[in-house]
Amino acid sequence: QPTTQPDYLARLNPEQRLAVETLDGPLLVLAGAGTGKTSVLTTRFAHLLMTGRARPWQVLAVTFTNKAAREMRERVATILGQPADGLWLGTFHALCARMLRRHAEIVGLKSNFTILDTDDQMRLLKQIMEAAGGIDSKRWPAQGLMAVIQRWKDRGLTPARITPAEDSDYANNRARSLYEAYQRRLIELNAADFGDLLLHVTEILRTRADILAEYHRSFRYILVDEYQDTNLVQYLWLRLLAQNEDPNQRNICCVGDDDQSIYSWRGAEIENILRFEKDFPGARIVRLESNYRSTKPILAAAAGLIARNAGRLGKTLRPGRKDAEGENVRVVSLWDSVEEARMVGERIEQAQRKGHPLSEFAILVRANAQTRSFEERLITLGLPYRVVGGLKFYERAEIRDAMAYLRILHQPADDLAFERIVNTPKRGLGDSGMRTLHQAARAENIPLALAAERIAETDTLKPKPRAALRELMRGFVRWRQVNEKEGHVVAAETMLDESGYREMWKLDRSPEAPGRLENLRELERALGDYQTLAGFLDHVALVMETDENAEAERVQLMTLHAAKGLEFDTVFLPGWEEGLFPSQRSLDEGGDKALEEERRLAYVGITRARRTAIISHAANRQIYGNWTSSIPSRFLDELPEDAITREGQSTSRANRMADTPSVFLGSQGLLARRPRLTEVNPWDQRERPARDTALTKGERVFHQKFGYGTITDIDEDRLDITFDHSGPKRVLDRFVSKASE
Ligand code: ATP
Ligand code: MG
Repeated sequence: QPTTQPDYLARLNPEQRLAVETLDGPLLVLAGAGTGKTSVLTTRFAHLLMTGRARPWQVLAVTFTNKAAREMRERVATILGQPADGLWLGTFHALCARMLRRHAEIVGLKSNFTILDTDDQMRLLKQIMEAAGGIDSKRWPAQGLMAVIQRWKDRGLTPARITPAEDSDYANNRARSLYEAYQRRLIELNAADFGDLLLHVTEILRTRADILAEYHRSFRYILVDEYQDTNLVQYLWLRLLAQNEDPNQRNICCVGDDDQSIYSWRGAEIENILRFEKDFPGARIVRLESNYRSTKPILAAAAGLIARNAGRLGKTLRPGRKDAEGENVRVVSLWDSVEEARMVGERIEQAQRKGHPLSEFAILVRANAQTRSFEERLITLGLPYRVVGGLKFYERAEIRDAMAYLRILHQPADDLAFERIVNTPKRGLGDSGMRTLHQAARAENIPLALAAERIAETDTLKPKPRAALRELMRGFVRWRQVNEKEGHVVAAETMLDESGYREMWKLDRSPEAPGRLENLRELERALGDYQTLAGFLDHVALVMETDENAEAERVQLMTLHAAKGLEFDTVFLPGWEEGLFPSQRSLDEGGDKALEEERRLAYVGITRARRTAIISHAANRQIYGNWTSSIPSRFLDELPEDAITREGQSTSRANRMADTPSVFLGSQGLLARRPRLTEVNPWDQRERPARDTALTKGERVFHQKFGYGTITDIDEDRLDITFDHSGPKRVLDRFVSKASE
């Protein structure tokens, strides 16, 4: 019988405590960033168990990411003083997978069904479309169908539930029947895609009152984080589970912030939070107003910005940290994107020297393609980093595809690369065609590409794949000539165009497609930094080899979307430029809706910072391979002046001139055009601090991946080094610094 309140409650402020202790009935915690919503939800979970209100399996708790679920589990365990097993705690997907395994047979699956990833899903959809026949896959790529089906699944629509109003005009109104065929095939394969997890379970709960009643009896409490970003099917699932026949058992607690709704493009519906009181009569609303995360200037900047949005629920946000005084938010104007990456790298390096752990720095970008310049900068500086919630640039599918094309261009015997792209985009080479190729290659002991070249000129293959293959192989001959005459950048561009690879993504209607096209442009830009194709391929091989797991302390790189719910001491927010952030797409759309979502994204970004937020924009940026000048984001003007400190462009430009006059002069032409391929790219030199320190033969050095070693030979930017642990290797000088042993 505790007479004093337990520690975990004593830590809370009165409103938080109310939210934790109001256990009966529906409850919405509506509060701004950093006010402790997630903390409250976690404490509530522990409190339910500590007071004996619920057994561990009687609480259903939904988080937005697996990482958040892990953290919540750990914190609950800490409060309980023992490991928390058997909890229904996870993302919507994880929880639904678990439920579906229990009732799989109802939808015709076995409980050991496989969950398909996007690649599998695509392959399957393509097969379905081929089998259906008569669909022009150029006009109607499978990605488009995937997007349509995903949207339907986000809305809880099984094929049978699609009304004419919800139908799609994809492939002349064939989407619905293709969807039907796809779902049938999935069942035959004993498989489910991600969307199916929620769709199937919701369908089961809708149609099987007995099963729903079972869950009503077992889940006495439901907890949901980030409620503002639930989509329709998630909402339906929650409502089914929460609308217990026993009105005294409708104990659902959702926490959220309408200002942080940033997933409408994935079907999230902000309305879900707005109509909570209607859906759950008798709902109580608790507001939290003290922010414990950020300093005053950071909060003031965020509040000033989000105040520009109309139609908000409106919330108060007060600084609640004891040490809430702090430095202003910096707004740094830079000459170009190269300098921006350099600025970020330098600041991290300086802070690290003062003893700040790298994991306390986050670089939050608007678009995936932006991470590359920061990744390369961090690699140059030898600062370990992690790309959160996304693949590193060179690991992305479209980059790997494009790299495969480049590898064949450079080295026709690269069978792995050849296999990757011979049928990407589709050239009608099915399994049998590939078998023929492999057989021919094996029989004569020649590379696949060579076998393909020969076979394409005979009539072994069916006419369509034969013609497509011939075109591809003759293409490679041509692109190699372009490479010799006009250089690798033009060759790469020509190749991606003529091979149909870029076209494949242009025709793609999925939401990721524009990002993939941007990434391809970014790759071409990166190619321009190298004088030869071989040099570039080496570089990428080295970048890709950088060991992931060696260090725990790493700079965190991610998109603003992936940063939701997280916090860091220092947050960099680069690329605040019109057309980038707010995104071009949101500007093209016109109207306020898309723009307001971008503003919420900016709000999420700023409020991730505990002590330091550094926003930047560059006056010049390479977009689609060309230097263009960019206009500072309108969001910069919307920040309240007294919360920010501007660092001007003039200073940084002057610095550049003093530091590296030759580079500056050499780059003047960059604004107008890309440097000609024959000239030495001045930026390339700037990327190489190692050059300044003039490495010499016999010198002791440190390499990021291979550690300490001694230089045995120098050949331009290549160094032969005998490493202490891994022996002699040839490496690029940019990864090497003087040893400080
Ligand atoms: P977001 O909207 O970004 O998801 P949130 O509302 O979920 O934020 P939390 O992440 O739970 O906020 O809390 C923000 C920070 O404030 C955390 O570091 C947390 O430990 C701290 N915090 C929460 N409540 C208190 C409190 N009463 N006293 C001190 N610190 C607190
Ligand atoms: Mg949170």
